[in-house]
Order: sequence, then C-alpha cells, then structure tokens
Amino acid sequence: MTGVASLKDRFLLAAVLGYPVAQSRSPLLHDYWFAQQGLAGRYLALPVKPGGLEPALRGLAPLGYAGCNLTIPHKQDAMAIVDQVDDVARDIGAISCVVVRPDGTLLGTNNDWRGCIGNLHDAFPDWRADAGPVAVIGAGGGARAVCYGLLRAGVPELRLVNRTQDRATQIAADLGGPIRVMAWDDRAAALDGVTLVVNATSQGMVGMAPLDLSIDQLPATAIAYDIIYTPLETPFLAAARAQGNATLNGLGMLLHQGVPAWQAWFGITPVITGDLRQKMEHAIAPQAS
Ligand code: NAP
Repeated sequence: MTGVASLKDRFLLAAVLGYPVAQSRSPLLHDYWFAQQGLAGRYLALPVKPGGLEPALRGLAPLGYAGCNLTIPHKQDAMAIVDQVDDVARDIGAISCVVVRPDGTLLGTNNDWRGCIGNLHDAFPDWRADAGPVAVIGAGGGARAVCYGLLRAGVPELRLVNRTQDRATQIAADLGGPIRVMAWDDRAAALDGVTLVVNATSQGMVGMAPLDLSIDQLPATAIAYDIIYTPLETPFLAAARAQGNATLNGLGMLLHQGVPAWQAWFGITPVITGDLRQKMEHAIAPQAS
C-alpha cells in the first residue's frame, strides 16, 4: 500500500478501457477524487478495441498507471491476460478492475458486486438481505456481479429470470446457493412476495427499448433497483415510483465500486459526497440539477 505522502510527489494515473468508451462518466468521478484528496493525477477513458486489450494492459506498468477499470467488451477477455485473477473475479467470471502490483504484474479483481450492495445499503440502511426473496432480471456480466453480491449479503432466495434462460442456469451452476431460475414468461409472477427486484438487463438504457416487465405483482414494500444510470430514471423505475415503490438507480453502484478501486490502486479511501453525486447527476442529465 502506498502512503499519501509519497503519492503527493507523483502524478497518478488510472483509466477505464472499453470500446466505445467516450460516453463513460468514470473520469469525472475519479478526477473529482484526485482533487478531493489533494493529489495530482488523471483518470482517462481509453478506447481500446478488443484485439488491443493485451498490449494495452501490458502497457499500464511501463506507462506508470496504478491500474484500470474495464468495461464492455473487455471484462471477460481480461481473465486470460492478467497474471493473477482473484477469487471474486473468478467466481463472478469477469474482471472490472486491474491493479498494477509493485513488481509490474497485473492482478484482476471485480468490484461491481461491492458497488451494487454498497449502493443498496447506502440508500436503504434498513434493507435486510435475509428479509425475504429477491428477483434479478438479466444474466449478463452486470447480473453476475449483482447475484454474487446478493448471495454474499445473505438473501434466502434469488429468483433469476433472463430472456435466454441458459445464461441464468449457468449463473446458478457457477455461483451455487439459493438461486431459483424462472422462465422468461414467468417474469411478472417472479416478483410476487419479493423485498427487492433488480433490473440488470440493458433494457431501458438510453437508446434501448424499455424493459418488458409487468410490475403489478410487486409488493408495495419492495424496492425497485435498476443498475442502469443513463437515464437516471428508466421506464422500469418510473413505473415502480408511480406505483408507490421505493426506487434506486445505478449511479451509486458506479460510485461505490470506485472506492475499493482506489484502495487497491492508491491505498486511499475516497469519500462519496453529496456534491460528487450532484456533479455526476448533472453530467448525466444536465436538466436534473
Ligand atoms: P450484457 O452482459 O450485454 O447483458 C445484457 C443483458 O440484457 C442480458 O441479460 C440480456 O439478455 C439482456 N437483454 C438484452 N436485450 C434484451 C431484450 N431485448 N429483452 C430482454 N433482455 C435483454 O450487459 P451488462 O454488462 O450485464 O450490462 C447490463 C446493463 O447494466 C447495462 O445497461 C450496463 O450499463 C449496466 N451496468 C451498470 C453498472 C453500474 O455500475 N451501475 C455496472 C455494470 C453494468 P440475453 O442473455 O437474453 O441476451
């Protein structure tokens, strides 16, 4: 771990590698934290095409980077490139964060599950994982991290629904635990009696069709959580809010996964402030603040 004093003598570098990546809000987040911590540094969004991932990752150490985050389409491919994959990334099946170790070797980990659960506890301190069943819609990379986090938090039953059922079955096989895979046609019924429903599909994101899900059977006390944050309120969340449910978007998940990344890269715990949230919300939806 690096002391803050020695960090002050250096220009710190980190990045997100993806393709496309220009739309990423991560530079705003991490550059805010450099300023907050009184450190000189920069976090860049680097467009790296799939074939360029290996040389890009191998370039991190000689270029002086502390590490990077990975986004679409690199999270799975990085597993075969880094020098070590930790247990969490192996269980989830994807790397969201690469750490350059002092000897220049690369460690792959995954902080998305921490972001998912940290966001939930932050927004709803009284939410208890063991209070009842939860439902997750989706079985892509994001959903894998969400399921991993909810199982670690201790949910007694996780109903998993995905358009392509085989992908949900694969998650259940990989993660084990109380996952109950349900058919796509039964997705509305899967919400009956849950304390929480999470949209982990890409449906409802800017430019995508809304999630095709009736929430008539969602209990009034349940939380509706969408891991999407562009827009800040998806049609799924708008419908849940109109029905009187508490709602949560994915911005906090992005913020909360950044904290363990900083701990691994710089040995520092940055702070998620109201001012930071406001700046991020304004960058996502300028009219929102
Ligand atoms: P992904 O691996 O490509 O998975 C996409 C998921 O959406 C799959 O479950 C897919 O189902 C489903 N889907 C796509 N089109 C659909 C349709 N027409 N009808 C029903 N389901 C459909 O993507 P991902 O990486 O998991 O990301 C999913 C979303 O989560 C994205 O919007 C991403 O931005 C967001 N995310 C947010 C955070 C955060 O920090 N807040 C972190 C990670 C991801 P099939 O398997 O049937 O194709």
